[in-house]
Amino acid sequence: MHQNYKNSLIKFRDAEVGYEAKFSADLEVALVYPSPYRIAAASLGFHSIVKVVNQLEFACAHRAALPESDELDVLRCLESLRPVSDYDAIGYSVAYEMELSGIIKTLRLCGLPTLSKDRPESAPLVFAGGPLTFSNPAPIGPFFDVICLGEGEDLVGQLLQTYENCGRDRKKTINLLAESPGFYVPSLHGDNVPAIARADERHVPAQSQFTTPYSELSNMHLTEAVRGCSRGCNYCVMRRSTNGGMRLGLPEKVLASIPDHATRVGLVGASVTDHPQIAEIVEAVVASGREVGISSLRADKLTERLVAGLAAGGYRTLTVAADGASQKLRFSMDRRTNDGHLIQSAKLAKAFGLKTLKVYMMVGLPEETDADFDELTSLIQKLHQHHPRIALGVSPFVAKRHTPLDGQPYAGIDVVNRRLKIMRKNLKGMAEIRPTSARWAWVEYMLAQGTQASGLAVIEAEKNGGNFAAYKKAFSNEACRPTGPIAKVPSSSERATAQRLKVIRSS
Ligand code: SF4
Repeated sequence: MHQNYKNSLIKFRDAEVGYEAKFSADLEVALVYPSPYRIAAASLGFHSIVKVVNQLEFACAHRAALPESDELDVLRCLESLRPVSDYDAIGYSVAYEMELSGIIKTLRLCGLPTLSKDRPESAPLVFAGGPLTFSNPAPIGPFFDVICLGEGEDLVGQLLQTYENCGRDRKKTINLLAESPGFYVPSLHGDNVPAIARADERHVPAQSQFTTPYSELSNMHLTEAVRGCSRGCNYCVMRRSTNGGMRLGLPEKVLASIPDHATRVGLVGASVTDHPQIAEIVEAVVASGREVGISSLRADKLTERLVAGLAAGGYRTLTVAADGASQKLRFSMDRRTNDGHLIQSAKLAKAFGLKTLKVYMMVGLPEETDADFDELTSLIQKLHQHHPRIALGVSPFVAKRHTPLDGQPYAGIDVVNRRLKIMRKNLKGMAEIRPTSARWAWVEYMLAQGTQASGLAVIEAEKNGGNFAAYKKAFSNEACRPTGPIAKVPSSSERATAQRLKVIRSS
């Protein structure tokens, strides 16, 4: 074993506080995160699946993550240091489209053929789940025998039990699961992905299983304050029409779950500030002497009480989302935030001594024009009058499946870069612009709107260096062309979105 790799696994393992590993069981499952350990350790969904597998009487879960060094030849589990390929089943948690390259790399490091169809009957069952399955898992389809769709806490137990009942026969297992709700068997379903599942209430709130200084969220205990969202932003896969909308973590359950050793607490969820008792929860965490973090702040829900609690809990940056450059664009996306909410956020951040106001933005939205950025300039001027330090996190818009904006085209790398240039020029001296890459957002778009053929193209792109030029060439194949929205009867919110876009076009 590569000594540095071994040392890093031991370092990660020994630094975890509070984790109760289950070392052996009849069915040994390796759970792989296709991004580095520091990201895996910050994923509440990954923690939750590890817990659920370890609670099964017949199974145990050991973890592996994408190594940060390219020199390795074998992927190993943290708990045992054994090769992942020794395990009876291998499960992946996939957060978003760009982790496909990590899936390919880790499968190679397992010594397995990357494609499900090329693996021998004796190979372990290889399955996946995770946030990506809420939108479009078709591109990762060819790499897996079966994929759990949506909330996986109940599905993973059903999947592993079926595998056991079938005598660990992969073919029998996937044939049975293909008939069960919540499972996508890419070899049988093709690009027609079934509906996602909803987990039982007993899994809410999910809790992290350990804290570690090596997490992106260093030494932070994560607890789920809400699951889902009650709002309707029409670009978002977590909107109210997804899986029954928002479910609340009861404050007493959320607070009781915090272990004594936790010095920092992260309240996680798609729309945490929509929790009606969020200020009380924050105050209780701070009163216990801990720092607090919230995964999503809505500008229209910020109150003096909440921001005071966050400041007392160690917040230095107040982060909110404007998303569209103008009110017209925010209206078109069914986004409730307006200029007044953002100005109030700047005032609150200043009043409670937070050093930076960070505002998330998207560029390249449908119907967006350069003129929308004049309105943005005027808004940022106002924010700057109330707070000296404004940062804009800017991401290109990428249309996702299962949203009313599914099928909207990518604005174009040139268009996105031109608008970034306008922002840099107009906002100089008022705001720091922190953009993500327009090129890689195009790659994300090709996968978000893609099919199994798009996933296969990633193999070729990675073989040819994994740079943008390699992806561009691989996606030039006709089979990778985005197919437009998935065919279905439009929902009422999709009809409302079409109406909003019509109003904007005619104004
Ligand atoms: S963007 Fe945020 S507020 Fe809007 S639907 Fe998604 S999770 Fe909810």
